[in-house]
Amino acid sequence: MLNADEIVYRCALFPRMVDQGIVPPEKAIADFFTEKDDEGNKVYTISVGRGAMLPDWAAVHDYGCRTAVAANDYLTEKKGGPLIRGEETLHYIGSYKVNVASIMQAPCKLFDLGVFHHPMPNLPEHCNIAMRQNSVDGTRIERSAERTGIIVYLRQSLYDPDSHICECDADLKETLAEIKLSVGPDKPPLLTG
Ligand SMILES: [Zn+2]
Repeated sequence: MLNADEIVYRCALFPRMVDQGIVPPEKAIADFFTEKDDEGNKVYTISVGRGAMLPDWAAVHDYGCRTAVAANDYLTEKKGGPLIRGEETLHYIGSYKVNVASIMQAPCKLFDLGVFHHPMPNLPEHCNIAMRQNSVDGTRIERSAERTGIIVYLRQSLYDPDSHICECDADLKETLAEIKLSVGPDKPPLLTG
C-alpha cells in the first residue's frame, strides 16, 4: 500500500475521456473497474501511476504514452484486428495529480479503500486505487451510494493537470491540441494531520 505522503497520476485518454473539447472530472474518473482478486472476491479499481517512480512531468507523460499503447493493444486483441487510427485508437493527452492522502480521506464505511502498487507489463509504475467490500453490514443500495460518493470525492481530488501531446501522435496534433484538461469547481480536499 502506498504511503499517505505519496502522489499518484491519473492519465487522460482521447477520445474516451473527452466531452465537448474538454476532459471534465466526471470523465477523467468515470467509474471503478470491476475485477476479482486472487481469492475470487470482487475488487473495484481505478488505474493511476506512482509518483515516486515518476520524478518529473516528462516521466509522467512517458508513462501516459505507455498506458495508451497498452489500452490500444487490449482493444486490438478484443477486435481481433488492427484499429482504425484516430477513430478506434486511444491517445494520451495529459495527466492529473492526486494526493494519496486525499484518497484516504474519502468517506467509506462499507468498503476499504487503498492505493496499491500493481506493476503491469511495460507499466512498472502502475497502481490501483482499490476498493473492497468489508464485513460491515449494508444494503446493496447503501453500497452503491457509497461507491458513487467515493467516485465524486476522487474527482474533486484531481488537481494540477498538465496537457501533453506524444511524439507518436504528431499526425493528430491539431485535434489533440484543442482539448483542455479541466478540474471541478471544488478545490482538492484539504489535507489535515
Ligand atoms: Zn504516445
